[in-house]
Amino acid sequence: MGQEESEPIIVMMENHWSIHNRDKDRGNYLPQVLIIGAGISGLVCGRILKDTGFRVKLLEARDRIGGRIWTERSMGFPCELGASWIHGKLGNPLYKWCLNQSFEVMSIPYGGIWFYEDGIPSSHYSIIWQYKKTILGCLSIYLRYRVKQFINNSNIRYDVSVEELASFLYKNLKPQERRFLKWIVELVEAINGAPAGELSIKEVGISEIFKSNLVIKDGYDVLINDVSNGLDIETGVTVKAIEHSRKRVLVHTSKGRYTSDICVITVPLGVLKAGDIDFIPPLQSEKIMAINRIGYGGVLNKVVFTFKNRFWEKGHERITRLPEITDENNEFFGYWADFSRQSGVPCLVAFAGGAGALKMDKELSDKEIKDIAFNSLKRIFGEKVPVPDSWKITRWFSDPFSRGSYSYGSPGSSGAHRRILSEPCQNRLFFAGEATEPDNYGTVHGALLSGVREARRIHGIFCCKDEDYGRIPWR
Ligand SMILES: Cc1cc2nc3c(=O)[nH]c(=O)nc-3n(C[C@H](O)[C@H](O)[C@H](O)COP(=O)(O)OP(=O)(O)OC[C@H]3O[C@@H](n4cnc5c(N)ncnc54)[C@H](O)[C@@H]3O)c2cc1C
Repeated sequence: MGQEESEPIIVMMENHWSIHNRDKDRGNYLPQVLIIGAGISGLVCGRILKDTGFRVKLLEARDRIGGRIWTERSMGFPCELGASWIHGKLGNPLYKWCLNQSFEVMSIPYGGIWFYEDGIPSSHYSIIWQYKKTILGCLSIYLRYRVKQFINNSNIRYDVSVEELASFLYKNLKPQERRFLKWIVELVEAINGAPAGELSIKEVGISEIFKSNLVIKDGYDVLINDVSNGLDIETGVTVKAIEHSRKRVLVHTSKGRYTSDICVITVPLGVLKAGDIDFIPPLQSEKIMAINRIGYGGVLNKVVFTFKNRFWEKGHERITRLPEITDENNEFFGYWADFSRQSGVPCLVAFAGGAGALKMDKELSDKEIKDIAFNSLKRIFGEKVPVPDSWKITRWFSDPFSRGSYSYGSPGSSGAHRRILSEPCQNRLFFAGEATEPDNYGTVHGALLSGVREARRIHGIFCCKDEDYGRIPWR
């Protein structure tokens, strides 16, 4: 395996852990595996297969591994420009992995949401009380929609977009009440990384921000380093085309051609949607339909600010303000989280989603985005906000190797589409990655589970259906 013309070099390194505590030697009868993409799904799949005796190589387009997990350290602390959190402890393999490997986790941000108006904070309890009628009215309409959806499960007619539902609700609200609904919609857009017009109402659930969200003290990439240990990975190799026949797979890249027996494709759905990889022969029409149907191509971006001194109250770790009804969408940086306990310096991170974030990502300069975020902070705290000491912004949409932040449910898409996306082609091409998971898509643990799923599938087809994964650290 490897570049067609040369012999592969498989680097063997000391493992932190191994499913069998050694590399199983099954000789040459197992297929050679080429994995496209060294994000968490590709790494997990590769590591399981390698530890169980397969010859594995990963090709990664970027000059770093981890994909949408990107811990950046130039500000002097582990700053998460991609995924920040492990969402919940219960049943989350990432939490178990951290426990087993003694990676320290912290609950950040902690406590309730603080709504600021002219520099004066109100707790979410008082806002909920103030807007109780609005909330109940919206909830009852929303629940009626969901019940209809449930009754007509197979009927996509009732699957409307968040925007459609919101404009219906707006009509029934007084101007002041609309501010609260606008905040909810903007939050839902940020959580799902998608504009409201493309997002199914099935995705409305803001419980995420109240879940116990954990950060890894030393950075998410400790998991990337842990799982990639000993794997043969080539970075800076962009895959352009994948040719497969009944006998082998031929992969055309920016650095030449690679052959293997089977190939696991883990690139983001946005890369598949954009047609950046040519499949020869083309993928089946059902799979193409699934690629088109599942939502992807919105964005969640971040702006990270650090300050010399803290100017906001200690304990206020979730900070926001209700948007004015007249606010332009692209001014939204309405939700800030305090990461100072992790970074060790005063640090606020803004989250931007929806159409405004998309526009900024495509059209504005770094400085313009930074200024919008700074002004948003001033609207929360008033003029006392000091100039940030250092800052970073992200552009996940313009990034050609992500083309958005993560997949979401668009109206009319369902878990069935994700299952179709995950099905192999002629047992030569296999598909993993967050978008292929029917339940936990859009998350790191979903991506991890998709990598395990495809490793199991490959075991089942080629050797050992009941392979023992007992030593996996996330079990
Ligand atoms: C801003 C942001 C915040 C997030 N926050 C959270 C969070 O708090 N918690 C959470 O659970 N999830 C979060 N997520 C989602 C999570 O990061 C992803 O679901 C997960 O990391 C995806 O892993 P993956 O292996 O499926 O894909 P990726 O990590 O994208 O890996 C795919 C790899 O394929 C490579 N690739 C692409 N094209 C090519 C090509 N042509 N040739 C070769 N290689 C290619 C890419 O460079 C990439 O490394 C967030 C994502 C973003 C963007």
